[in-house]
Amino acid sequence: MNLVKKFIINKIILSLIFLSGCTFFNKTNKNKEVIKNMSEHKKTIFTFLSAPGGGKGTLAQKAIDKLNFIVLSTGDLFRQYIANSTNIGLELKKYMDKGELVPDELVISMVKEWLLSIKDSDKPIILDGFPRTSVQAKKLIELLQKNLPEFGFRVIKLETPQEEITERLINRRVCPNKECQAVYNTSMPEITEGKCLKCDTQLIQRADDKPEIIKERFDVYYKNEKELINAYESEGIDIETINVSKKTPNTILQNFTDIL
Ligand code: ADP
Ligand code: ZN
Repeated sequence: MNLVKKFIINKIILSLIFLSGCTFFNKTNKNKEVIKNMSEHKKTIFTFLSAPGGGKGTLAQKAIDKLNFIVLSTGDLFRQYIANSTNIGLELKKYMDKGELVPDELVISMVKEWLLSIKDSDKPIILDGFPRTSVQAKKLIELLQKNLPEFGFRVIKLETPQEEITERLINRRVCPNKECQAVYNTSMPEITEGKCLKCDTQLIQRADDKPEIIKERFDVYYKNEKELINAYESEGIDIETINVSKKTPNTILQNFTDIL
């Protein structure tokens, strides 16, 4: 090989090494920046990536009881609107009874209003059930950057096999009292009478916990999970994972506490 050819090939190889080094440096730098920003924030908003019945509601409830978190559960909020028979409630019911997602604009405006109303609280926050689409995720990140820069943001993926959660959803019973909304499982001996242990209301099965609707909710979830993960990755946000398969709520709470 003549010298000129050798020189050009060497140059190309060196440039390639340099370029890939730059990309790596930029990526690690971007991540470091996000992590640094997060540790500088006094307040953190957590969200869970979790399939329906994947334990996000239970963990959120434990975090309220034991760790002094405040939680917005979009599902519970929507069910309260439905129980109050408001116009918004009727609109929400149309989507929820079929296992479909409520339109992004409606969800985003309700979450935004809630976040702005609690922004002066010092407690850590969980958004249970939000963001659920990449549009919601992007809007949330934009809102945090523009209006709530004092908040950090962490995404926790709760991993469970689908068969385990299908069974849990079919056996789930809930308290329809809109102030209570406690959640139980038919395998719990304490609820053989079918009454809520907190407020004595007759427990019911959620309309969307029927098998055909559960399937629709899983389809919707897994489609959106991919988009959500891409959206977080493109924003340089790490996704942290907790394996929740076959664990008790207290163990899951312990695993969550360990990473706080
Ligand atoms: P699960 O996680 O068990 O499906 P949720 O209580 O979180 O239950 O949600 C129930 C329903 O409320 C969803 O199937 C959907 O119709 C609606 N919903 C809740 N959160 C959102 C959201 N962020 N975006 C769109 N729809 C939502
Ligand atoms: Zn109750």
